[in-house]
Amino acid sequence: MSSEVAFNLFYLLICFAIIYPHEEFISTGLTIQNCMGNFLGSEKQQFIRYHMKKSMLNLFVYSCLPLVYIILLFLLGFESEFFELFTGSGVCWRIFAASSVAAPFIALFELKRWTESNHKNHPIVKQLTKCCNNNNDWEAVASDIENEYRRLGSISFKTNPIIKIVVTENWLLKVTPLTIFLTHQSDATLCVNQAQNYQLSHMGASETQFLNIEVKCTRADNFTIRINSVDFKDLEDRLARSINILPDVRFHKTVTEQFLEVFKQTVRKNPKYNTDMELDQCIGCLQANPQIKLQKQCQSTENQSMNCTNCFCKPMWCLDCIGKWFMSKQDPELKNQWLASKCTCPMCRATFCLLDVSLLGSVEE
Ligand SMILES: [Zn+2]
Ligand SMILES: [Zn+2]
Ligand SMILES: [Zn+2]
Repeated sequence: MSSEVAFNLFYLLICFAIIYPHEEFISTGLTIQNCMGNFLGSEKQQFIRYHMKKSMLNLFVYSCLPLVYIILLFLLGFESEFFELFTGSGVCWRIFAASSVAAPFIALFELKRWTESNHKNHPIVKQLTKCCNNNNDWEAVASDIENEYRRLGSISFKTNPIIKIVVTENWLLKVTPLTIFLTHQSDATLCVNQAQNYQLSHMGASETQFLNIEVKCTRADNFTIRINSVDFKDLEDRLARSINILPDVRFHKTVTEQFLEVFKQTVRKNPKYNTDMELDQCIGCLQANPQIKLQKQCQSTENQSMNCTNCFCKPMWCLDCIGKWFMSKQDPELKNQWLASKCTCPMCRATFCLLDVSLLGSVEE
């Protein structure tokens, strides 16, 4: 490989690492935010102002990449070889060189426009302004978000190296290299409109699912966020609003959900248990009515110690809770044996198996 090809490849790689910093690159500490830490300040303390500065820095650094390339070509003495790559009179080369020189100046001009009259034209400020109440300026909104971000309980998700989703108590933000999309949660409706599956390992064991969630805002611009489906529950719990899911979106089921489903199906096939006893709420969740009674119905075997025993407790558990209890007592390494395994009654410790769980006759399906 000739040295100029190696140089070109190397420079391409550097550009890629600067624009799209992967974890390996971030760990070397050579990212823009590390090198310019003092200028940027603290993200934790001044979230919005930090990202305003960072977006300006990003724009300027991106605009300098072609010019630095040309300067390096000259310094290393590759310019003549490079020149030949462009055929004819070298028009392409001149256009490239001219735009490379112009780019940083255009960027500087744009940055000047962004910072004028209290950053009025900065993309982040434009978004903030849309969320202002009548008499407030964008700084009031920025301070509100920064205060919430500082508090415990705000969470963030990263699905790629350049985009971050942040959820604070009342705000939802999508941070990109040059701007932040944001909305007050009370202004937003969220809808999962797509689920994409990726096979990560060749064994097919680990499939990752990403969800695209459309955020429709009454005041600010609409945007789309993308999260790993394992984070969905966290996001849903943190948001003040519920997330709609389009009917054709298929979520991955976790092992827990899959097991509970089979558990319930199996229990429904068992004989029912009729009673007119007064029953309290399920003592597991304190919400549902008790739905099951444990009573030995399986065949005993020769081996006494392995047999199920009778439970005389009154119905105290809903189907969900007894399913979760059953699962919690199983060996996580032996998932394929769970359905055939045994468990003990949470109250009297009588041994039961799946055949011994009866739905109450009063439970409606
Ligand atoms: Zn329950
Ligand atoms: Zn019992
Ligand atoms: Zn049994």
